[in-house]
Amino acid sequence: MRILVVEDDADLSRQLVAALKDAGYAVDTANDGEEGHFLGDTEPYDAVVLDVGLPRMDGISVLEQWRRDGRAMPVLLLTARDRWSDKVQGIDAGADDYVAKPFHMEEVLARLRALVRRAAGHAANEIECGPVRLDIKAGRVTVNGNPIKLTSHEFKVLEYLMHHRDRVVSRTELTEHLYDQDFDRDSNTIEVFVGRLRKKVPSDLIETVRGLGYRIVTPGNVA
Ligand code: CA
Repeated sequence: MRILVVEDDADLSRQLVAALKDAGYAVDTANDGEEGHFLGDTEPYDAVVLDVGLPRMDGISVLEQWRRDGRAMPVLLLTARDRWSDKVQGIDAGADDYVAKPFHMEEVLARLRALVRRAAGHAANEIECGPVRLDIKAGRVTVNGNPIKLTSHEFKVLEYLMHHRDRVVSRTELTEHLYDQDFDRDSNTIEVFVGRLRKKVPSDLIETVRGLGYRIVTPGNVA
């Protein structure tokens, strides 16, 4: 999952990036509203952490512009503690949730997890697909109740495919959502991860759709 952090406070931005990377997200940053708006407009993010008070373009305007242009990614707004008007304006502008500063990093992480989950249509922290069960929060995967060991890259690929199951996900989409801007994007890497992943999960879980990408089909659903 790839997250954009738009925050002009350098310390806070660093802390957010460190915590998000620790939690397994790919992270891009912008430190003013214009750059943030541009990135959110041109790159496919799974969620955005957006500060309200930003130089060059305030967070509310950035959000309004995105929503006007049909950009629907989940947005978590960072508001100042006492500015209740920011919260109201933010929600009116299309924010999905907000956290007031100063906040505990754990709260931001929990709210982001919930936003990403809801955006993919899941209500719980666990996604199940036949014998495979993936615990998003704990970063654990079991097959028929037995834990399997995945590298963080393998986990990210499986998580993304399970989040978006029953539809075809292209290699490009996987690359765009799993890595930040600075990553050397070679779609062969994805093939390697999927290949390794297939040796650890039931062999028929991840389907290759020739020329299009990969798909995980919920048992009982007709592909
Ligand atoms: Ca600020």
